[in-house]
Amino acid sequence: MIDCGLFQGLKELRLRNWAPLPLPPADITGVVLTHAHTDHSGYIPLLVKHHFHGRIYASAPTVELCKILLPDSGYLQEEDARFASDHGFSKHHPALPLYTYEDALQSLRYFSPLHNGDVRRIGDGLDCRLIRAGHLLGSRFIELILHRPRQRRLLFAGDIGRYDALITSPPLRVPEADYLIMEATYGDRLHPKEDVFARVAAIVNRTIAQGGMVLIPAFAVGRTQEMLYILKRCQEREMIDRRIPVYLNTPLGIDATDIYNRYLTEHKIYSGLDGTHHHANHPQHPERSNNPFTCDNLHLVHDHTASKRLNSLESPAIIIAGSGMLTGGRMLHHIKSYGPDRRSAILLVGYQAEGTRGHALREGTRSLKIHGDQVPIRCTVEQIESLSAHGDQDDLLRWLRGFRRPPHVTYLVHGEPEVAQRLAEKIRETLQWKVEIPRYLQEVALA
Ligand SMILES: [Zn+2]
Repeated sequence: MIDCGLFQGLKELRLRNWAPLPLPPADITGVVLTHAHTDHSGYIPLLVKHHFHGRIYASAPTVELCKILLPDSGYLQEEDARFASDHGFSKHHPALPLYTYEDALQSLRYFSPLHNGDVRRIGDGLDCRLIRAGHLLGSRFIELILHRPRQRRLLFAGDIGRYDALITSPPLRVPEADYLIMEATYGDRLHPKEDVFARVAAIVNRTIAQGGMVLIPAFAVGRTQEMLYILKRCQEREMIDRRIPVYLNTPLGIDATDIYNRYLTEHKIYSGLDGTHHHANHPQHPERSNNPFTCDNLHLVHDHTASKRLNSLESPAIIIAGSGMLTGGRMLHHIKSYGPDRRSAILLVGYQAEGTRGHALREGTRSLKIHGDQVPIRCTVEQIESLSAHGDQDDLLRWLRGFRRPPHVTYLVHGEPEVAQRLAEKIRETLQWKVEIPRYLQEVALA
């Protein structure tokens, strides 16, 4: 099984999480993961709960990130079930979680790290190799080599990163595959080019000068570390005042940052790859220092009491907390306190799915319902759109041009249907490859 994610977003998709798999989990002998995002890993606890007893292979950083993300996902499932019970949303009483925190902990013992470049025999006549994908810490392409009846290479590109990401090293070139299965998330557009350092500094300086708070809702893995990195660089370049306190109010984000610090060679800022893909208006060589994610005056906030104290701060500060789309988490409390304050600012730095409070803010709403209260939003709302972890159309085509010969077939999965359709046309037009968009649960015979 390649990747083992939870369906997220629209209810019609989320209901698929409850449907039985096309084959019994006990018959699956192994799972290989491209990366730790829960839309690629979040089903694992349920697979194990339903009697999967094989191995789960992933890169070492992916294994470490799953150790914090899966239990958190179990905790959130339990919270959702409690909420549904209390509000009578569920036909079960009490409502059932998809899986629990405990189920998630149980599933962690099936993980086996695969090291870079290692070819591992994972089944009868079946080898596996991981190749850097540049999307998130530890993200990899999965190459499966089938030896019988004759050798064939299948390449699974779960999520493909960018060539000009801030932290993550770019995707590696893959010269050949007989079949390519890839994503299409941003396959029809280009990411805006902007100087994020200058924009963040301008927002921080303006807000702090008027005595407000800068609230940054951020996903705990990836975006939080990018924001810490941006703030540190802004301090070093004297674009912002080092004395402004920065509160990292997310236990999950603090744990994730520890993992980012343990795998420094995974980041381009350490592997010597920085400076080669920077935008023209960036300084070419960010100063190297021991810890790229610890800025001056950084405060790690673990417990709830300390988190609550942040709601009545006397002087301006920057607060980073979850959740990234404001669907829950500690940031909601801060927005209740500072959202009505004209001097403050909310800085949206991640993807905002439809139906979330983050999306409503982005669309210009001036009032949010939080914990049953209607909270007026009088602060400024700013958005940075250039930080996506997914390659855009140019990145995807650049990576595809690295192939020496076209795969027999390229399958586009993981993306809105219209977007996948437009990327398919673009690939056919520019590279003359055979591209298909499979239906859900479609079976394909390999030639
Ligand atoms: Zn991802």
